[in-house]
Amino acid sequence: MLAIRKRGLKMFVLALLFIVTITSFLLNYTNNAVIVTWDPKHLVYQFSEQFKKLMKYTRRPCSCSTCISEEGVSLWFDERFNQTMQPFLTTRNAFMPVESYNWWLKLQGEKNPKGLNETIHELFEIIPGDGDQLLERSSSRCRRCAVVGNSGNLKQSQYGPEIDSHDFVFRMNKAPTFGYESDVGSRTTHHFVYPESYKELGENVNMIVIPFKTLDLRWVVSALTTGTINHTYLPVPRKIKVDRNKIMVYHPIFIKYVYDSWLQHHGRYPSTGFLSVIFALHICDEVDLYGFGADNKGNWHHYWENNPSAGAFRQTGVHDGDFESNITLTLASVDKIHFFTGR
Ligand code: C5P
Repeated sequence: MLAIRKRGLKMFVLALLFIVTITSFLLNYTNNAVIVTWDPKHLVYQFSEQFKKLMKYTRRPCSCSTCISEEGVSLWFDERFNQTMQPFLTTRNAFMPVESYNWWLKLQGEKNPKGLNETIHELFEIIPGDGDQLLERSSSRCRRCAVVGNSGNLKQSQYGPEIDSHDFVFRMNKAPTFGYESDVGSRTTHHFVYPESYKELGENVNMIVIPFKTLDLRWVVSALTTGTINHTYLPVPRKIKVDRNKIMVYHPIFIKYVYDSWLQHHGRYPSTGFLSVIFALHICDEVDLYGFGADNKGNWHHYWENNPSAGAFRQTGVHDGDFESNITLTLASVDKIHFFTGR
């Protein structure tokens, strides 16, 4: 009688193990072979290991085949990626510690800036600037994003349809699409700009302003109201035609996070392209990168023009293009992003 019960128990444990193993297998955890022995300790251990894997699967941060924010895939990545950082400046997180504020003030050597608190207050009277929706996560979501830099390597790439197939398509600065659709696509969901790089945006495009100085925030206010600011260190548009509800502001503290954690203080501050990449890591589940890569002289050439200032960042040392490029390549090598090099 006892022997029959024991056998029943064994059969039960075996069946349970079988179910859990098959489930794990179906959930893509096939790389660990299960060795069945009758040692109860071993059985319990195996069961708990499979159970842990199952739990890990159900806790996955997204439903894509890989999720950027999933921990434990790359130690290098985990050491740099800080999920608690807030990419958007809002009324709720506008306080800046003195150290960060002083660092930010030096980026473009702003002298006698108007009070930041006052400026932020004015700004959020005009725009809601709420990016909360973008930050919501769900394990059933697979948000695929294309970050499109401005590199000349997009010429003749024929990436257009592939870029357009993403949930979000990020572009930046003066990037045009009209006339370049087959190589760069035609959709834009979010466009990163600062006043000096502003270009007219298509309807329904969200504008993400990257403020490198207080004046940039004041320009947003002015460009939506009185139109008094038309010059910073370059001429800037007096007025912009953008839906106020579609304007969001990149957090200065997030710029510092990108500089500290990801660039480890290389260059003076991160480029728009690099800021967009790290931003995308924080709000997307999968990131595909297009249009990143210098020409054969190391200059940042553009796909739509022969830009005379292509080498400026190297001469001035404002951005460390080589270091930024190394980081993006490393992100690709640890499978956190896909890097499309052009043709
Ligand atoms: O030239 P611009 O700054 O508008 O380009 C946007 C971003 O695209 C840059 O900040 C840089 O990160 C990336 N870029 C690149 N290689 C190029 C041109 C631009 O990686 N040849």
